[in-house]
Amino acid sequence: MRSRRGGYVGTPCSHHPARWRGHPSSGRRGIHFVTRFTQMKPAPFTYHAPTTVEAAVALLAEVAPQEGRVLAGGQSLVPAMALRLALPAHLVDINGVKGLDRLAVEAGELAIGACVRHAAFHRAAANGPLGALLSHVVRHIAHYPIRTRGTFCGSLAHADPASEWCLVAATLDARMMARSVRGMRAIAAADFFQGSMTTALAADELLAEVRLPLLPPDARFGFCEFSRRAGDFAIAMALATFRIRHGVMTGARIGVGGVEGSPRRIGVAESMLEGQRPSGEVFRAAADRVARSVEPLEDARYSARYRRDLARALTRRALESAAA
Ligand SMILES: Cc1cc2nc3c(=O)[nH]c(=O)nc-3n(C[C@H](O)[C@H](O)[C@H](O)COP(=O)(O)OP(=O)(O)OC[C@H]3O[C@@H](n4cnc5c(N)ncnc54)[C@H](O)[C@@H]3O)c2cc1C
Repeated sequence: MRSRRGGYVGTPCSHHPARWRGHPSSGRRGIHFVTRFTQMKPAPFTYHAPTTVEAAVALLAEVAPQEGRVLAGGQSLVPAMALRLALPAHLVDINGVKGLDRLAVEAGELAIGACVRHAAFHRAAANGPLGALLSHVVRHIAHYPIRTRGTFCGSLAHADPASEWCLVAATLDARMMARSVRGMRAIAAADFFQGSMTTALAADELLAEVRLPLLPPDARFGFCEFSRRAGDFAIAMALATFRIRHGVMTGARIGVGGVEGSPRRIGVAESMLEGQRPSGEVFRAAADRVARSVEPLEDARYSARYRRDLARALTRRALESAAA
């Protein structure tokens, strides 16, 4: 990994000292840093450090067929490489790419660049309920040091079923802006998440930005998750938002994460809230509907039944918290 001064932490092989070198195709794209690491816990890989988005996507186009991967915060990829669960032959480090740390509100959306860290959301990134929602949710992601490195977009690209940001993106209908040498395309959240750790991103695409629609000023939200210890990945979680107008709920969204391969909105439960006065009875019925609608994951530790029960309980709590 590159230190702030441009040296290296976690010594690269002494036979292959880090060196500045023009990439074969760097004439057009500017110089970037390329190093071959051969004696570390991960399998050998070639490290690239482009400084522009154009150079990054050109590199991705070149190295994607040879197991090239984007390196963002490294909080999921590097441990996987150390365990040799991931064996990328090339890493395209985007941390030095100009402009990818953009976090700005424009045209009714919060634009979140590929290098925006989780920790950026400790403070409200937008006025109103969206900023408050993100500040609330971020505290459930891992531990503070991890939040200072891991990125919002990296979480979405990684698509862990239990990722809080994936649940937020799915529930709020985020748009993912995927950049490649072919240009930029927008992918709706409902199409982006395609199963556990699987997304609609092509191997040579950079998730350059995510756009989250701002919530109306009177929107309320509730988020609940259950994990064995603080900082652990959640076993299940639920996010609910709605507005109350003339005493009844409108514009309800209910999303669940950690329960199935990908987080998703549960439309049949959302429609049960429309035009209803908030009450324990209505929330219980909607939460029951969520539990009946999901097809939970099952693994050695948690049965499908357990995850279904959690989906019910967490949805009810998220709804109650939104109404409070
Ligand atoms: C101990 C521990 C606890 C954790 N707990 C949680 C938790 O509770 N909740 C949670 O959500 N996460 C948790 N994480 C994961 C953490 O949030 C990661 O930061 C996040 O999942 C990945 O973001 P990253 O920027 O570190 O991505 P990286 O690790 O750099 O990359 C992850 C994957 O995404 C790809 N990728 C990254 N960015 C892009 C991009 N812009 N475009 C295309 N592909 C890209 C990479 O190629 C790689 O395949 C935890 C991690 C640790 C180590």
